[in-house]
Amino acid sequence: MKEILLAKYGEIALKGLNRSSFEATLMKTIRRRMEPIGNFKIYKAQSTIYIEPEEEGVDMDRACDQLRHVFGIAAINRARVCEKSFEALCAAAVDYLGDRLSRAKTFKVESKRSDKSFPLNSMELSRELGGYILSKYPHLKVEIENPELKVCAEVRDFAAYIHAGKIEAAGGMPTGTSGRAAVMLSGGIDSPVAAYMMAKRGLDLCGIHFQSPPYTSERALDKVERLAGILSRYSGNFALLVVPFTETQVAIRDNCPSELFTVLMRRSMMRIANRLCEQEHCGAIITGESLAQVASQTLAAIRCTDQAAALPVLRPLIGMDKTEIIEISRKIGCFETSIEPYEDCCTVFTPKHPKTKPRLEEVLEAESRVDLQSLEEAAAAGYTVRMKHFFD
Ligand code: ATP
Ligand code: MG
Repeated sequence: MKEILLAKYGEIALKGLNRSSFEATLMKTIRRRMEPIGNFKIYKAQSTIYIEPEEEGVDMDRACDQLRHVFGIAAINRARVCEKSFEALCAAAVDYLGDRLSRAKTFKVESKRSDKSFPLNSMELSRELGGYILSKYPHLKVEIENPELKVCAEVRDFAAYIHAGKIEAAGGMPTGTSGRAAVMLSGGIDSPVAAYMMAKRGLDLCGIHFQSPPYTSERALDKVERLAGILSRYSGNFALLVVPFTETQVAIRDNCPSELFTVLMRRSMMRIANRLCEQEHCGAIITGESLAQVASQTLAAIRCTDQAAALPVLRPLIGMDKTEIIEISRKIGCFETSIEPYEDCCTVFTPKHPKTKPRLEEVLEAESRVDLQSLEEAAAAGYTVRMKHFFD
């Protein structure tokens, strides 16, 4: 008898007319993710996607782990398939969950019957199956509130299933169903979290990283690439566009008031990112800014930055504390990489006393002292692409 994975939708189930296009995108993502693992038959019915191995020896742990990272899936049931009969359910429960039934002290049975032609309703099925299990494992006690083990029986369209309850998955919306955006990715803690949060809302992502060699090192870039790799576990392919930023930064440093350096640099980054977004068909720019975290993240500074951006700037961390951000960073597996101590282009020239309330007029006046347009054009034209696939 076979094991199967049942992927349950999250929010897609609430969608109306365009639900089928969300489902199609999700199925496509699942197919792509399962491809390196083995042959699977993948089909859907009743807000569930069935992922069924078509050969022996498929690594189901790996398949399950891959699925847990796919946005659009709220929960997974890892189940044993059996015939739609009470006897088959009893045999499957004992065979599939026997070890765990032996070890547990308390259990309960939960049943669902979506095939109404099945002779027992779900209450009856739970009661009868519970009785059968107790007869085989007399040490067990039924515990409704907080059982050590749940035995779940589902009688559905195609077959019946036994599993031990749901495994939490990534939730959110399927990648690509909200369009495409570019995340400004530093090597820090915040921007990878921002990327994750917006990918979760269905955005297909690419990353833009500004690099200032020789002030920033190859190892700093390597760290950003590894972060892109971790993010691609969730978002799928992740192209990282690496922009040479040294000349622009040096020109700003040498020609403009130092207390305006940070805001001027951020405006330059925005304009370059906007150019690249056009090329990459991105509809928005994502940053990891959080209000009041540093001098460049005050309302006045954000206003000056946004004035340089044509596209909407999405800042999913704007209202979050650092501790909340770190919690997500750990959860998604970025934290240990993010805290490696390499320099970022933002920090190498940072003035001692950046202005927390820059005025747009003084910023524009400072910009008029440098030919930023041609520097930014050259930077945007000089990018290189690093691709990251991280499906296993
Ligand atoms: P992070 O933890 O993401 O590095 P931060 O708290 O260090 O953020 P800043 O250095 O002010 O804050 O950067 C704010 C945002 O600007 C970052 O979250 C990121 O989106 C973007 N950014 C900063 N440095 C770079 C870079 N070198 N390349 C691309 N984007 C950057
Ligand atoms: Mg940083």
